[in-house]
Parts: sequence; structure tokens; C-alpha cells
Amino acid sequence: MIQKVIFTDIDGTILDNTGGYGETPKLIRSLIKSSVPVILCSAKTLAEQNRIRKQVGLTDPFIVENGGAIIIEKDYFNHSYILGNYPVKERDDDYIVELGKPATKIRELLNDIRKNFNINFRGVADISIQELSSITNLSAEHAKEMAHREYGETILQIEKRDLDRLTRIAREMDLSLIHGGRFFDVTMGNDKGKAVEILVNLFKKKYDHNVTFFGIGDSENDASMLGHMDIPVLVQGQDGSWSNVKINRIIRVPGIGPKGWALAYDDIFTKEPSK
Ligand SMILES: [Mg+2]
Repeated sequence: MIQKVIFTDIDGTILDNTGGYGETPKLIRSLIKSSVPVILCSAKTLAEQNRIRKQVGLTDPFIVENGGAIIIEKDYFNHSYILGNYPVKERDDDYIVELGKPATKIRELLNDIRKNFNINFRGVADISIQELSSITNLSAEHAKEMAHREYGETILQIEKRDLDRLTRIAREMDLSLIHGGRFFDVTMGNDKGKAVEILVNLFKKKYDHNVTFFGIGDSENDASMLGHMDIPVLVQGQDGSWSNVKINRIIRVPGIGPKGWALAYDDIFTKEPSK
């Protein structure tokens, strides 16, 4: 039998725009029961993803902050696959493969831009949790999880004309700007495609190449993940259309967010892949 591994985006994919999961927790639990790893891969922070992982009982590795880091429980893969092969930090029971530069460095650079170019913007680090909670409509607890960003800074407010200037200046300083809908994240070195590739290679070693990778997302921001999958799947966006992801053989399921995920589960994840 061929082992299956599923990579999935979170926002707009297993969660709809109201924060509702639909059937996905139940479906993920049944994948866990069948020993199919489910890898969360999103812009969300470790704290945000850990809350979701706890709710559904996931212990598989996951990719945080748009490829800022990969978190892997120490005993998940053979230690020799990881140690000596990647830049690894150890924290409690986890290996952390870090690709992104630390948030403190990015905030320093953003402060330099603010001063030297007279551009006004407000990031998560500039405001209180209370204010963040009112801007984002998140509970104080969830706002705190969002603020705990280790590999980037989220810009919440900026004038349109300043955004164009900031984008240009930031790029010259090797910073990346990733739009996540309402807000955008500024990162340095984060690489979702590379993070996915590292995990794909670790799983290939673990399963002796007898593995098929399924990926599921909702937006162009997922293209770097979907590009590494054997079976890339796209759910519909909130308006019922599919994002313009240019990947060969992509399967477009007719369902918005979690509804699309459930269709992918029925029609794709649980069928025997041919290889
Ligand atoms: Mg998404």
C-alpha cells in the first residue's frame, strides 16, 4: 500500500471566513486514525496552529508563518534524518528548522524604514493586545496568539500610497511582503516552498519513497506548497471562484473552504492513488 501524506492550508481551506471548521475536524480525526499524516502549512503562528492541532489531536509536523519554520516532534523522524542536515533549534520535545530571520531583526529594519523614509504604518508590535483584538475582531486570547510572531511582523494599517513605497524599499532590503487578505506580513528568508520540500524529502526517507503527497489550498499563496504535491487540490474562495493558481494537473473541487475540503476527502484523499 502506498502511504498518503496530506499538506493543507488553514485560512479559507479548513477554516471559513467566520472561523468555522465545518466537517474538517471530524475528517482530520479519521485521517489520524488511518495513520495519514496531516501537515498544517500556513501564515499562522505556532501558538495559533497549536490551538487547532490540540483541538483535532494532530501530532504531525507543521509549517508556521509562511515557511518561517518547520516544527517537528523529536521522535517523529529518525533523528539522523534531521540532525546535521538542517539548521535545527531544539525546544522542549521539538526540533525547529528555522528558515526565516527573527521578528526582532525585521522590526528593527521596519523601524529604520519608518524613520529614514518617513513612512507611517502600524504593525502588531506597535499596539496593545486590546487594540489588536478590536482591529481584528479576535478575542484577546486569539489576538495574543496572533501577536506572538517569531519570524515576521504583520502590518495592520498603512496609507495606500505609502504601501507602494514600503513595498519597493522593503524589497531592496531583502524583506518580503506577503498579502494575507486584510493585512500583510513582512518576512525575511521565510520560504514555504522550501519548508514543504524539506518535509516531503523527510517523508520520502521515512516511507522509502512509497508515498503520495496530497496538497490542498485556496489561494495563490498556496502555490509554492501545491507545486510540490503529487495531487494538488484547490477549494473555492469565499465568492465561489477558484484562485488563479498556475499548476499543472491541479484539481478544482466545487466547494468553498471546508466544504471543498470535505469533497476532497470523499473523492480524493480516501481513494487508492495510482502511481
Ligand atoms: Mg488560505
